[in-house]
Amino acid sequence: MAAAARSGRVVGVRDLPTYFRQSAGAGWALVGDAVHHKDPLAARGIADALLGAELLADYVLRGWDNDLDEALRGYPAELMRALQPAAFLNDQLAGLDLPAEQARGTWQALQMAERQIYPARPSARGRSRSLPGCAPYRHDGSWAVPLGLRRGDWSVTAV
Ligand SMILES: Cc1cc2nc3c(=O)[nH]c(=O)nc-3n(C[C@H](O)[C@H](O)[C@H](O)COP(=O)(O)OP(=O)(O)OC[C@H]3O[C@@H](n4cnc5c(N)ncnc54)[C@H](O)[C@@H]3O)c2cc1C
Repeated sequence: MAAAARSGRVVGVRDLPTYFRQSAGAGWALVGDAVHHKDPLAARGIADALLGAELLADYVLRGWDNDLDEALRGYPAELMRALQPAAFLNDQLAGLDLPAEQARGTWQALQMAERQIYPARPSARGRSRSLPGCAPYRHDGSWAVPLGLRRGDWSVTAV
């Protein structure tokens, strides 16, 4: 690198916004990047997309032979409950301006949030095994404890 010469201008991005779109309506539903944008710091895009796809598939199956739009009504709220904690914590970290101790706590809280989200949904529905040592998903605000945050400190912007 010492001998390298820059051949063009350096291009970067900053202040990438975190937002959620409305994720379902009459005759349509969104998953993955289409519904939720966030800073790539914690590299959550693929996992969130898979989680959303699995969740949406459950709702679609429930309404397949009946009223699909009606069946999808619960999907947006459940998707938000699953994604919001980690989105909030990722957003905090992406500012790169937390004092070291708080950043450490925030990363730990993010790990807790991820552990709560992923193994949980399938086992809660009894469709597949949960991972050993992983707690079932529950959105009880415990992810916020290390930060001293209260639920509702962070709101979602509809875009
Ligand atoms: C450079 C980069 C690095 C990344 N690194 C990571 C990482 O390390 N870890 C991580 O978790 N995430 C990472 N991500 C984010 C991750 O790739 C996305 O969050 C994830 O792929 C979203 O999945 P998705 O299914 O929502 O969308 P996509 O994977 O984008 O899939 C959408 C698909 O729809 C197709 N499509 C678009 N329009 C149409 C159309 N009109 N008709 C038919 N098909 C269409 C596209 O071609 C594409 O194949 C990275 C993203 C980028 C850009």
